[in-house]
Amino acid sequence: MASRAPDLSRFPKAQLRDGPSPIVALPRLSRHLGGADIYVKREDVDGLGGGGNKLRKLEFLIGEAQAMGADTVITVGGRQSNHARLTAAVAARVGMKCELVLSRLVPIDDDDYVENGNVVLDRLFGAVIHDIPGNVSALQVAEERAATLRSQGRKVYVCPLGGSSPVGCLGYVSCALELLDQSRESGIEFDHIVVPNGSGGTQAGLVAGLIASGVPPTKVVGYTVLAPLEKAFATTCEKIGQTLALIDSSLTFSTSDVVLHGEQLGSGYGLPTDSMRRAVNLLASQEGLLLDPVYSGKAFAGLIQSVESGRFGAGQKVLFLMSGGTPSLFAYRSTFA
Ligand SMILES: *Cc1c(COP(=O)(O)O)cnc(C)c1O
Repeated sequence: MASRAPDLSRFPKAQLRDGPSPIVALPRLSRHLGGADIYVKREDVDGLGGGGNKLRKLEFLIGEAQAMGADTVITVGGRQSNHARLTAAVAARVGMKCELVLSRLVPIDDDDYVENGNVVLDRLFGAVIHDIPGNVSALQVAEERAATLRSQGRKVYVCPLGGSSPVGCLGYVSCALELLDQSRESGIEFDHIVVPNGSGGTQAGLVAGLIASGVPPTKVVGYTVLAPLEKAFATTCEKIGQTLALIDSSLTFSTSDVVLHGEQLGSGYGLPTDSMRRAVNLLASQEGLLLDPVYSGKAFAGLIQSVESGRFGAGQKVLFLMSGGTPSLFAYRSTFA
């Protein structure tokens, strides 16, 4: 296995973040749950656009868009997409126009869900919003819109769901390298790194980054919150392969390197579960930290379950990747009322 950190400096990158995200111990919550020592990596604290995991991907995606001379970025997502909101913020920051194709993927249609949360922010950042039904291919609508704008002379960059192209996944390769540096500096080695899995790019990038650094990739434990387990597993493996090919074609992986669980998905993407509600309430009331109802709340519920079942036992160190999504709490007001 390779033991040298991969060099990502040859990939164009827009600087959108403020340096390493802090790792913080949660002693009160760890005592409360009575098992492993729990830490969080604050991927949610960056200043731009309200912060969240999509900023790391967007550094490489917008770097690529700028290298291609793009003046407009189009992306896709659910109505309350954090990725869409951050793409709109980043476009404002770098001076590009932004259009969002937002699907009604989630069967919730109260006013909070449709107009509050991320949608308020999308509008503030100046994005054009295309509202489409859940059964239409958002990427196809985005490509058609891109073709129209190109025929008018615009240079359009289309960004995939969740920003999870291989180039976008480089953002989480860089996060893996950063957290290995933080481990070396602090002397704290993590046994497990727990992450939500939506479009799969966050987990895929982390796994690829660990493999490229010669660290066991099974430390990364994902919880699917979007696709059913089998589909999420296949998507994640595909993205790991593509990301490894991009950073070093000699690197390989096997499906046994990928740890992904399906039991926190509940009835589907964006639909609240009791264990998510409990996780969001617990982290807020014990630590003053905000999870989100769609991604990190469900993955943290998986972490809690692993501590309570003894799978993450006393003496183990577990790092949770706080991925952002705070604005969507306001879209789910009735869920927490
Ligand atoms: C998009 C998102 C995720 C999931 O990341 P993927 O790379 O799409 O798997 C997790 N948490 C939040 C808050 C997100 O917005």
